[in-house]
Amino acid sequence: MFKFKNFTYLIILTTCFIKAQNLDNDIKDKNILIVYGGWEGHKPKLFAEKIASWLEEKKANVYISDTTSIYTNTKLMKKLDLIIQHITMSEISENQIKNLTNTIKNGVGLAGCHGGLGDSFRNDEDFQYMVGGQFVQHPGDSINYTVNISTKKDPITKDINDFNLTSEQYYMHVDPAIEVLATTKFSGKHDPWIKGVVIPVVWKKYYGKGRVFYSSIGHSIENFEIPQVWEITTRGIAWACK
Ligand SMILES: [Zn+2]
Repeated sequence: MFKFKNFTYLIILTTCFIKAQNLDNDIKDKNILIVYGGWEGHKPKLFAEKIASWLEEKKANVYISDTTSIYTNTKLMKKLDLIIQHITMSEISENQIKNLTNTIKNGVGLAGCHGGLGDSFRNDEDFQYMVGGQFVQHPGDSINYTVNISTKKDPITKDINDFNLTSEQYYMHVDPAIEVLATTKFSGKHDPWIKGVVIPVVWKKYYGKGRVFYSSIGHSIENFEIPQVWEITTRGIAWACK
């Protein structure tokens, strides 16, 4: 019995190691650009620094910019594997959005979370078409809510169970073309007419040849200290830069 137990632990440990290695291989030597800005309440610089230090640990080549004008740097755009954007609200010029959407269409990945990708440029439908959803409300502001994992077969949500967190529960308008990996149900406590409505929290999709990953969690940096949130976010980033 004792031997069998040890063997089981060994299998679990090996599986974890292989999984971590796969993720490392997806990120190692990749050219990744992090673009941050917009509403300061979402601490965009802190987010950019946190993600950058993790990516550098995984041996990626990280570029950081605090302006969307970087999207017109065609020389850089051509060598990228992934763009991580964290800009809430703000605006983007016609030329910049054209360069960004073409870059993703041609096969560069795009990843982000919360308002940094799901509420970036409210007047730009090309951007929303690419991301696959747009934030519209968070009834009750910061509340305790449940994230329900839709599939455990996908590598991004594999072996992750449903979990609770206290943060903004994003109510989003979404594109039916997204592949939903996790959802949340609205209780109706704050807005009774949306009682029982299920809204996607985590999804992936394609935009041309580009892989797009989004998670609506991440109002505060502390959200990423929840192991399931960090796991989903980092796996999503790794998937998007393949
Ligand atoms: Zn927020």
